[in-house]
Amino acid sequence: MTHASGRHFLQIPGPTNVPDRVLRAIDQPTIDHRGPEFAALGLEILGELPKIFQTEHPVIIYPSSGTGAWEAALVNALSPGDRVLMCETGQFAVLWQQLAARLGFDTQVLPTDWRHGADPEVIEAALTDDSAHAIKAVCIVHNETSTGVASRIGKIRKAIDRAQHPALFLVDTISSLASIDYRMDEWGVDVTVAGSQKGLMLPPGLAFNAVSDKAVAASRSASTPKSYWSWDDVLAANKSGFFPYTPATNLLYGLSESIRMLLEEGLDNVFARHDRHAAATRLAVGTWGLEVLCLNPDEHSSSLTAVLMPEGHDADSFRAVVLEAFDMSLGTGLGRLAGKVFRIGHLGSFNDLMLAGTLAGVEMGLARAGVPHERGGVAAALDWLADSSPERANG
Ligand SMILES: *Cc1c(COP(=O)(O)O)cnc(C)c1O
Repeated sequence: MTHASGRHFLQIPGPTNVPDRVLRAIDQPTIDHRGPEFAALGLEILGELPKIFQTEHPVIIYPSSGTGAWEAALVNALSPGDRVLMCETGQFAVLWQQLAARLGFDTQVLPTDWRHGADPEVIEAALTDDSAHAIKAVCIVHNETSTGVASRIGKIRKAIDRAQHPALFLVDTISSLASIDYRMDEWGVDVTVAGSQKGLMLPPGLAFNAVSDKAVAASRSASTPKSYWSWDDVLAANKSGFFPYTPATNLLYGLSESIRMLLEEGLDNVFARHDRHAAATRLAVGTWGLEVLCLNPDEHSSSLTAVLMPEGHDADSFRAVVLEAFDMSLGTGLGRLAGKVFRIGHLGSFNDLMLAGTLAGVEMGLARAGVPHERGGVAAALDWLADSSPERANG
């Protein structure tokens, strides 16, 4: 490999670009995780982190990838053989379902065309049909990272309430937390699953379960074997700022800084920034004459945009050209979308000029790879960004 000058553009929908403030925060000596200095760090983070989830409830932190937090949510909340209602919105929903099935849970899957989110009415009907209340949990991926479609969690909560069903509500926010408005308490979510490497702007390696009182109560009678993932052990140690095993100390330094950055910017401004960059990206895609995968305007993801390749053109060949020519990584098509879509990540530590560079790389890449398109997508996005203030996007 020869040295590539300048900064690599990491425009996949996670892991995302880690800002310098977070890198500097992580670059400290590791301390004794049983000592007083650590307790102060632990208590500070555990006190502030729930604000990012818009919850008053505790957030459990694991040294893990997001997949671990999927497993933690299920093994704590459920008993062997329990039925879970899941919605196949895309590849991440498929992976969560496969994980649940491997663990021995009885998964009832509601299909979609992978171009729409989870349908509140379909969920309501499935729950209404379940008059015996065999379904113990409804599991939804908020932002389906494989498709760029965001399900409407508040509306799904209302559907569960209309069906008067007691199931727990489990939501994967791995690619939406700190990017797309997410209100755990207002939407009555019982377990929020999250990870460090997307909207939180950290390297991979931390994962989260935010847990409601109802979820903690359910875990006390749930009989699935668990040890490493046990909420009880973590919650007990967290009271004094500690963890039951060695935490990822340096990532926690980074987490403390990323929470500070998000609260300095203000969550509403963070969400408006993501909405605005997503809108500008869709404008560019439309101007190129290409198609966004998401079909419902109410469900466009603000974290990423999945773009369909024209017939006869391979998305991964195009991505390889962009990487080679412009040192930019775009997201690959996952599962049944392999080769058919590429994904533009516009989440995390990101601003107008980074978006401009990203879209320029895509437009130049389309030309270089011989993909039929109209020019002018970047220009259209720049005009729109110049005219639209973040405040306006907020209002
Ligand atoms: C990235 C992602 C995951 C997987 O997280 P890992 O850290 O790779 O285990 C799960 N769900 C969603 C929605 C994601 O975006």
